[in-house]
Amino acid sequence: MPARRSVLRVGITELRRRPGTQRPVVVQTPIPGLAITSAQVPDDADLAIDLILESVEGTAITARGTVGVPWVAECRRCLDVVSGTMVVEVREVYEVHPRDGETYPIDVDEIDLEPVVRDAVLLNLPISPLCRPDCEGPVPDDLPVILPGELPASEGDDGPPKDPRWAVLDGLTFDPP
Ligand SMILES: [Zn+2]
Repeated sequence: MPARRSVLRVGITELRRRPGTQRPVVVQTPIPGLAITSAQVPDDADLAIDLILESVEGTAITARGTVGVPWVAECRRCLDVVSGTMVVEVREVYEVHPRDGETYPIDVDEIDLEPVVRDAVLLNLPISPLCRPDCEGPVPDDLPVILPGELPASEGDDGPPKDPRWAVLDGLTFDPP
């Protein structure tokens, strides 16, 4: 159980009193601790929560809508930082007697939207992100390193290297006969 009180607890007394009624919940808030091995949501980044709560027959509340989530990760090939924003769909049910793993609990006259948002985000964070679709990863360390003084002699633009013994000829001029 988290020690801090969730900012996403919503009173539902009115909703339950009148089945069929709806209540929008639009909140911008950070939710710390949203992370999987490959990616995370920055602890201080706002999630854009935009849900509609609806009372169903007085015994259940549905929560439907979207959550906009900023995330950061490491490219799985080159390990550069990758970041993005995703929009996660939410469609969940709260019940007085929740079914384990299927629905969320109604806590007397409140529901807590944080577990729903948390589960939806964790399920959708990128598992193997790439910085770009054709990232080929880091330059391998074992490529040969060519220092300027070691440039292969035959690669110049001046044709084959001259025999140094002929250099003296360059200084000669020939008078026409
Ligand atoms: Zn990359």
